Amino acid sequence: MRRRSTSAKMLLLLFAVALGCTSSLLHTAVAAEPARCAMPPVATDKADAKAAEAQADAAKREALFKGEGHETMRRQVADYLDTYTIEEIDIPINYIVIFEEDGTGWVPEGQLENQTTVMNERFAGQGVDASKDTGMRFYTANITYINNTLLAYYCGDASLYTIPRYELIDDASEALHVLVCPSDYFLGVAVFPWDAPEDSPMHAINLHYGTLPGGFITSYNAGYTLVHEAGHYFGLLHTFQGTTCSRRGGDFIRDTPAQKYPTNGCPAEVDADTCPHRRGYDNIHNFMDYSYDECLDRFSRWQVVYMRFYTNLFRPTLVNTGRVVETSAQTCADLGWTADGDVCVQTRFESAQCTTGTWYDNHYLCESIGARMCSQEELLNLDIGGRCRRLLRGHSVWSTELCPNDIRGVVELTKNNGRTPGCRDAFVGDATMACCADVGLP
Ligand SMILES: [Zn+2]
Repeated sequence: MRRRSTSAKMLLLLFAVALGCTSSLLHTAVAAEPARCAMPPVATDKADAKAAEAQADAAKREALFKGEGHETMRRQVADYLDTYTIEEIDIPINYIVIFEEDGTGWVPEGQLENQTTVMNERFAGQGVDASKDTGMRFYTANITYINNTLLAYYCGDASLYTIPRYELIDDASEALHVLVCPSDYFLGVAVFPWDAPEDSPMHAINLHYGTLPGGFITSYNAGYTLVHEAGHYFGLLHTFQGTTCSRRGGDFIRDTPAQKYPTNGCPAEVDADTCPHRRGYDNIHNFMDYSYDECLDRFSRWQVVYMRFYTNLFRPTLVNTGRVVETSAQTCADLGWTADGDVCVQTRFESAQCTTGTWYDNHYLCESIGARMCSQEELLNLDIGGRCRRLLRGHSVWSTELCPNDIRGVVELTKNNGRTPGCRDAFVGDATMACCADVGLP
């Protein structure tokens, strides 16, 4: 959810409410978003049945995360990364504009198109070095106008906002549905991907029409509220989730610094540090904070990984709908690398040579340049030239192999002929990264 910035008193009120709807499960992190704590009354029998179904399914989904903590969640992502790919998907957006009979809430199609453009630019991280490309692209598939004052009221109400979802949507699985309407209570509200079956109308996002690009809500009219709500829709928590500086709480994203409270306005970076004893300033530029639109510009690398992870896991129909091309193996020449054999090794990345990082870093970096991680066999037969060979000597290189107990495979370049496979916990320590691609393919 995203609200207009409020006074500290208002924030305290929000947190007080949050305490009233606690849950032992991490993923009911909606607790910080009071409007989503209770299942609101629904309008029809059909909606009742669907809501019951949704609740049952949500329980099942939450069981997936049982006993979770940071480590469990990371392991789930680890399993996912075995098949992880950042292939581009084109996601259809269905806008449903619900306006009042006097015209309040009506918006022109052009404004919705501009919103889609903003979604594309921000999810591509366009023009912002610190923002990572999610590989997600969007297009406007449908625009529907509903002239209905009562539904418009429900749509923007703090507790009745799910009614128009059930009234207007049958199956939410093949597109991102956005209900655009006036609201006195919120800028936007979304549910997490694990909150309901993928076809449930619950997945629609309710969006205040004043937040659209060029809308009338000062400081929140660049279209970033939908970017923020879509972040929830794809599985991201707030950067200040849990209002804690603890390592065991927060948003569980490793590259967003600990942050205790939402950001108000757009402060100077050095002035925003609600966890002064933890590394880094608050995430004032991150779409999952509450800063003004003008302040926001990025998703972090690990937020991107988690979004793709949850979307693949919980929204397979959406992913299939959006899949445009199968990722094909690239050749070394495609990648601009020189190689004589059938393996090319990435020795330059982000201006560094023979970069080091974790297994996950390696996996992500290789994918992001259109390659893949090398297998153990490829590493054992590695023929690396020049400068990189010198740098690699004495290091371990992550491989794709799994050892017992979910430990990752590495190839040590120091022992026995310089090459011995070994095992290591992927979360402990760094190793050198190498990527492979296939040559000789058309
Ligand atoms: Zn939110």
